[in-house]
Amino acid sequence: STSAPLAQLAGVGKRYGATRALDGLDLALHPGQVTSLLGANGAGKSTAVGLLLGLLVPDAGHVRVFGEAPRTPAVRRRCGVMLQSAGIPERLCVGEMLALVRAGYPAPRSVADCVALAGLDGLLDRRYGALSGGQQRRVQFALAVCGRPRLLCLDEPTTGLDLDARQRLWAAVRELVADGSAVLLTTHYLEEAEALSDRVAVLAEGRLAAEGGIDAIRARVAVRRIRCVSS
Ligand code: ATP
Repeated sequence: STSAPLAQLAGVGKRYGATRALDGLDLALHPGQVTSLLGANGAGKSTAVGLLLGLLVPDAGHVRVFGEAPRTPAVRRRCGVMLQSAGIPERLCVGEMLALVRAGYPAPRSVADCVALAGLDGLLDRRYGALSGGQQRRVQFALAVCGRPRLLCLDEPTTGLDLDARQRLWAAVRELVADGSAVLLTTHYLEEAEALSDRVAVLAEGRLAAEGGIDAIRARVAVRRIRCVSS
């Protein structure tokens, strides 16, 4: 892309004790694009998301979001996020939570829009802790997109979602991207990466193993499969 990146990791390293989770990772997120991070369990995908959001501090390199350090109030008002551990209070009602999160954004979607977008019909008066796992994921997604974020980070967003909820989420992501937002997606589903990605980065042991358009990555994966079958 020729546009300036909206967010980037530059030469980023991160260790947890003796474990080197990321080792010199460069990653740029552009407006109007979904960038998918693929890789095996433990490859460093969630760590990259945590660094981008300023939830983790890098040991090396730097992180810039909208040209600033991550997690300043100004940056947070333009970000939406769906993490693997949501940390949402179980006793709060869905409607209360949505009101709280919407209030943190300058131009949020209406409650009715959020309900329609995430499939929350009939859930606003329910306590979060009393919902099914898939219903909780829908709520998390509504909270992630209710502020019309310019940067949306989705860490394995559709794990445990049924087909209807998965397709709703994909549609909402496409709408945000068409509007010029940048999206970082981690997923274990190649099908999901294919459905959404403009660019794909494959992580292996904390480093970039491959990067490119989805077609190039798909071709590489296919070649590897053919080699496995024929060898
Ligand atoms: P998954 O697909 O399983 O979610 P991932 O690609 O998101 O994996 P990370 O969660 O970023 O991978 O983990 C990268 C490496 O860092 C792994 O070896 C993991 O065990 C280690 N790690 C992650 N978080 C911590 C932590 N809080 N303390 C110690 N080690 C950690």
